[in-house]
Amino acid sequence: AIEVRELHKYFGELEVLKGIDFHVDHGQVVCVIGPSGSGKSTLLRCVNRLEDPTSGTIVVEGVDICDPEADLDDVRSRIGMVFQSFNLFPHMNVMRNLCIAQQRVRGRGKDEAIEVARTNLAKVGLAGKEDAYPAHLSGGQQQRVAIARALSMDPDMMLFDEPTSALDPELVGDVLAVMKDLASEGMTMMVVTHEMGFAREVGDKLVFMDDGVIVEEGDPVEVLADPQHERTRSFLSKVL
Ligand code: ATP
Ligand code: MG
Repeated sequence: AIEVRELHKYFGELEVLKGIDFHVDHGQVVCVIGPSGSGKSTLLRCVNRLEDPTSGTIVVEGVDICDPEADLDDVRSRIGMVFQSFNLFPHMNVMRNLCIAQQRVRGRGKDEAIEVARTNLAKVGLAGKEDAYPAHLSGGQQQRVAIARALSMDPDMMLFDEPTSALDPELVGDVLAVMKDLASEGMTMMVVTHEMGFAREVGDKLVFMDDGVIVEEGDPVEVLADPQHERTRSFLSKVL
């Protein structure tokens, strides 16, 4: 579970997160939507400490990850993150991509790492692609490798930042299907997405952000059908 309280983030003079409060319960899927520049990525990046919050607290599975004493490698290894741009290591084949952090951060031996990697590759529908290099895979396959790599660390939760936005339309479905499977297995997930169908079908909660604040949150079906705030209505009228 994630508990965020009074989170503020400045970049220099610019206040990008202006007091964010929200929580994600164990096994919940929370989808985050909002205009460009509203702070969605910054929020996600704070949750796994890719960015340092300026103030506020973020408690992940009972651990205050803003504590200066927090072990950032440990924090990040418990929170899988998947980016729009895949971020695979281009000079490593798929198996190496899946094993390296398991070995270096989790301290697993090679054989165990390979076995875990194989299980997760099968899970994302890519058994048999162990030896391929990222450049030889489609965007959808690369993104599924990125998901398998994150899962190989046995994370407590997964963060997705527009995981399908860089994909050709016909490849989006495969990635969403993997995410849907994960959700149904009970993975705790935070998903920044423009895929309203996914938010409606899979999301337990929909959060609408604008200009560094959470304007509205609630059941995705209700928020999408009957937004309570003008800013939400205006945003949804442009994307739906
Ligand atoms: P998008 O939908 O375009 O991905 P977003 O909601 O994810 O937008 P963020 O990337 O979180 O928005 O950015 C929020 C604001 O913070 C923007 O004004 C952006 O320019 C600014 N910002 C983000 N990262 C930095 C940084 N490293 N340094 C300075 N400003 C930044
Ligand atoms: Mg973003």
